[in-house]
Amino acid sequence: MTNPLLAEWDTPFQIAPFDTISDDDFTPALDQALAAHNAEIDAIAGNADAPTFDNVIGALEAAGRDLDKVLGVFFTVAGADSNPAREALQREFSPRLAAHFSEISANTALFARVAAVWDQRDSLDLTDEQARVLMLTHRGFVRAGAALTGAEAARMKEIKGRLAVLGTEFTQNLLADERDWHMDLAETDMAGLPDFVIRTAREAGKEKGADGAVITLSRSLIVPFLQFSTRRDLREIAYKAWAARGANGGKTDNRDIAAEILKLREERAKLLGYENFAAYKLETEMASDAASVRALLMQVWEPAKAQAEADAWVLAQMMQQDGVNGALQAWDWRFYSERRRQQLHDLDEAELKPYFQLDRMIEASFDCASRLFGLSFEPLDVPLYHPDCRAWNVTRGGEHIAVFIGDYFARGSKRSGAWCSAMRSQAKHPQVQTPVVINVCNFAKGDPALLSYDDARTLFHEFGHALHQMLSDVTYESVSGTSVARDFVELPSQLYEHWLDVPEVLGAFATHSETGQPMPQVLLDKVLAAATYDMGFQTVEYVASALVDLEFHDGAAPADPMARQAEILDELGMPPAIGMRHATPHFAHVFSGDGYSSGYYSYMWSEVMDADAFAAFEEAGGAFDETVAKALEENILSTGGSRDAAELYTAFRGRLPGVEALLKGRGLAA
Ligand SMILES: [Zn+2]
Repeated sequence: MTNPLLAEWDTPFQIAPFDTISDDDFTPALDQALAAHNAEIDAIAGNADAPTFDNVIGALEAAGRDLDKVLGVFFTVAGADSNPAREALQREFSPRLAAHFSEISANTALFARVAAVWDQRDSLDLTDEQARVLMLTHRGFVRAGAALTGAEAARMKEIKGRLAVLGTEFTQNLLADERDWHMDLAETDMAGLPDFVIRTAREAGKEKGADGAVITLSRSLIVPFLQFSTRRDLREIAYKAWAARGANGGKTDNRDIAAEILKLREERAKLLGYENFAAYKLETEMASDAASVRALLMQVWEPAKAQAEADAWVLAQMMQQDGVNGALQAWDWRFYSERRRQQLHDLDEAELKPYFQLDRMIEASFDCASRLFGLSFEPLDVPLYHPDCRAWNVTRGGEHIAVFIGDYFARGSKRSGAWCSAMRSQAKHPQVQTPVVINVCNFAKGDPALLSYDDARTLFHEFGHALHQMLSDVTYESVSGTSVARDFVELPSQLYEHWLDVPEVLGAFATHSETGQPMPQVLLDKVLAAATYDMGFQTVEYVASALVDLEFHDGAAPADPMARQAEILDELGMPPAIGMRHATPHFAHVFSGDGYSSGYYSYMWSEVMDADAFAAFEEAGGAFDETVAKALEENILSTGGSRDAAELYTAFRGRLPGVEALLKGRGLAA
């Protein structure tokens, strides 16, 4: 019998036949799919014909279909509906897949053929998309070190291995420091803490085997403690322990590790022919170089710092009225800021919740897509991997565009957070395939299911990613949908969040679950005002971290990263009562792996773009302006990575993004 993962899927829109797949099918299917992919790669690398775009790049794009099918299903269920068998499979598959793909990028015969096509690129009469796919494929090999030979290739291998070890050590040290510290709370130490913090602290105490409540260094416990505890002495102890993670001396200290990582990254970049690591890292991003990143961050820094300084003055006054003398400290900020928040925006979650019904918010996200892009959504009855999942056939003008699956409720078998993935990506080569896209969230079940305002934003955010996949209209899968630069990928998702705040959308869909009445304007105003509260602080703690990350990698690696960090903050004039969001010894984004190294800026980069892009609608005459919606689809939502991100944005907006809309949105505009 054929493995159901590898058979032809004779289902509506070739959705995986979940009702016939069992966990025992995954390993044999993966074995077969990897073998098939290897055979395809060998055939491409060993082809006796002269290399052409089609027999090298086109063939690489067409290879691995079975692998796509197996992994599309496996990663969906492993993330959204795991069990011990699937967890064991994941541990088995991860290293096998890593080895498989690194073997391909180290295949010298294959690289020789890719390089041969690259060398004749100007005489090949390629389409723009083909030229782009060729460039990306060639660059991917070069960046992985495929062009290096002899001692250099050996050194590159050594560096990669050492960096992997150091990244893991960094993470483990950080976890050890977070695990090892806790502070016991006696009854008298609970002053000011609301019930939910006391409850969490008691649960944490049980976990630690302590007698009563404890404060740990978990963000979800220490942040509310710093917000609510009236015991300044305890806040100081807790804050200092939190800030010292990874810098406590002894065998869990991360400072030397950070220095070695920075040195090895610089060496790696130089081996590959780049001036420094930031140049290597930013080459593939929309920002493209350190100077553009620095320019953007500094435009945000100055107004954010000014706002933070003004806020610090208010908070210091409040502290003095409390009879506390001396300067406002880092362990005071959250406490007085929370008090001020309660005075300014007393927003009651319980009053808000009945207005955000899950089903109505799904309808709202579909309705906006229908008004903007002409999409229709019809419920689709197909077997999926869990009874909570729902599917829709997405059409336009009667034509099938995509299948959209929503898996909204939290359960023990689902990892935390929310995400969007494509079980199948859009492509036209080697044949037309329409996307199957899934949004996974962790909302609480209920009758009716009610969301918080943040949940509703998450729903719109993930649906924005889904639109990027569903409206994709490219030929080659490697540049389809969300296969774009890291600092560009959050644009469609963050942009879509803006439609939730459009008054006519809330008016129509944020209706009370019992009375059916739309949300009152006063409540709506409160929600929107609360969203920009304390942005000076939040922007300063973030931008300081992003700038330190950038400076570490732009230029020679600092011998003493802590000294360099202090120097950078000093030059910036960091407000004394605000700490970095992530200081070097616990900056996991940057040191646990390569993902966000000299890339921590990208969150803000995307936010600048989404604010600027939504402003295009407002300037044109409203959130549903047809011309702007069409330009958005044509230049951003349908194009994937088939063109350079900066070029795409410019085609949409007529210029590159400016920071004005972001500063306005964050309440930081002068
Ligand atoms: Zn996202």
